[in-house]
Amino acid sequence: MIGESSLWFPRMCAVCGKELIPGENTLCVHCLFHLPKTYHWQLYLNPLLTSFHALSHLTGAVAFLYFREASPYRKLLHRFKYGGMCEVGLYMGELFGKELCEEWGMPTGLTPPGTGKERRPVLVPIPMSGRKRRKRGYNQAEWLAAGLSASTGWPVDVTAVRRVKEKTSQTVYDKEQRQENMKNAFQAKTLSYSDVLLVDDVVTTGATMESCAHALWKKNPDLKLGFLSLAFVE
Ligand SMILES: [Zn+2]
Repeated sequence: MIGESSLWFPRMCAVCGKELIPGENTLCVHCLFHLPKTYHWQLYLNPLLTSFHALSHLTGAVAFLYFREASPYRKLLHRFKYGGMCEVGLYMGELFGKELCEEWGMPTGLTPPGTGKERRPVLVPIPMSGRKRRKRGYNQAEWLAAGLSASTGWPVDVTAVRRVKEKTSQTVYDKEQRQENMKNAFQAKTLSYSDVLLVDDVVTTGATMESCAHALWKKNPDLKLGFLSLAFVE
């Protein structure tokens, strides 16, 4: 079925809303050129990784874009997450993956210094509960992972971990309360591979990523684990 959003999608820039000209896809040339990239992938100890100080053995953490208060790029994420425009996630994931692959092998931001770059990670999108997924119709992290996979060749596994508890509205909580709220929200299975990159659309406090990581390590104590996120709130 062709929804209203997919009719609208090919013609307007997902950031500024300007009509796209032939050759432009999802974003106009101007918005594409000015993407607020973090360049986390060039540095292992970047601000996102250091925000996960409780997870000292991560292989890395990299976000693609800054998600600043007054930035017009917030529209991009809003359309992706709540506006039914899952194609935006696919496209942004592909751009993100291309950026990661600019250097041969694994980018520095995903590899601790001195550990070499021969890796073939599996992309694991952070799952939603079945109820929430049915309500929204899609999991935006899966679309992002699909885009990342298209440009990196890394496989995607949507069965590695499942969500057993949906977060309640977190806007009034501080970081500690969010962590408590997210405790035991995920259940992982024993994996046949040893290198995972968890994928989500946006990292705010990191409580969701941390909870999901702990569930995976509980079943797979030797798992190499890193994070990829489309957006990072400073
Ligand atoms: Zn634009």
